[in-house]
Amino acid sequence: MDDQSLRGTVALVTGASSGIGRATALALAARGAAVALTARRAELLRELAAEIHAAGGTALPLAADIADHEEAAEAVRFTVAELGRLDTLVNNAGLMLLGHVTQSATADWQRMVDINLTGLMHTTHAALPHLLEAAAQGPRRVADLVNISSVAGRHAFAGSAAYCATKFGVNAFSESVRQELARQHVRVCVVEPGSVDTELRTHNVPEVQQAIDQVLGAIERLRPEDVADAVAYAVTRPRHVALAEIQVRPTEQV
Ligand code: NDP
Repeated sequence: MDDQSLRGTVALVTGASSGIGRATALALAARGAAVALTARRAELLRELAAEIHAAGGTALPLAADIADHEEAAEAVRFTVAELGRLDTLVNNAGLMLLGHVTQSATADWQRMVDINLTGLMHTTHAALPHLLEAAAQGPRRVADLVNISSVAGRHAFAGSAAYCATKFGVNAFSESVRQELARQHVRVCVVEPGSVDTELRTHNVPEVQQAIDQVLGAIERLRPEDVADAVAYAVTRPRHVALAEIQVRPTEQV
């Protein structure tokens, strides 16, 4: 990787144990960032950190449940304590449990709100003082908050009411924060992937997974690296360029 434009910076990626978060951590590390990795599955984080170290990078595995707002804030504090600063936060951890409203367990809705929305908000709240400091005094004089939303944060779909509500919430929160921080050079970017081939769907019951496959049809889905590319592109723009919103779809996804 020739682009080392993130050298000297520190990034925290939530949900780094699999899928888009894992690929994003690798992409940022390949561009020179030291990366803090959070998720609940500590063993997977340790394996990823070892892979990054073996490639010459720096990585800090931090087991944390983002639904616990104290743990989310602690992950930010630990990142800064161990790696010295925070320039980039990628709020990626997420859960997607689909189903028609009448057939859904409201406890599933609450879990999604706790992880996708309020977990992201609390992590952001803990990180912002450090992002502001990085933007004011860091080597790049700019900092980045990237929130992984979804096409379901732009368009509502039957069978996805609660998930869409969390992602619409992510988009609204992100846009407000963007307006609040623009003048201080903290860029806020929402990334809205279409269908990506990850574990995300597998947390649903088999009938729901079949329904998802039927709606999508036999298309070639995105790979996690495709979304990681978009994140890496956004956070390596020159200081005066902010990408506020990126929608990445499989070419065939209508
Ligand atoms: P994965 O299921 O592969 O990854 C989800 C990640 O979130 C895992 O690392 C998981 O780690 C972590 N996570 C889940 N719950 C918690 C929690 N309570 N605390 C901490 N970490 C948690 O799915 P994707 O990579 O696909 O999903 C990443 C993001 O992309 C999500 O926000 C999702 O909504 C979004 N997205 C995905 C799309 C897709 O088609 N796949 C499309 C659009 C958006 P662990 O289990 O170890 O805690």
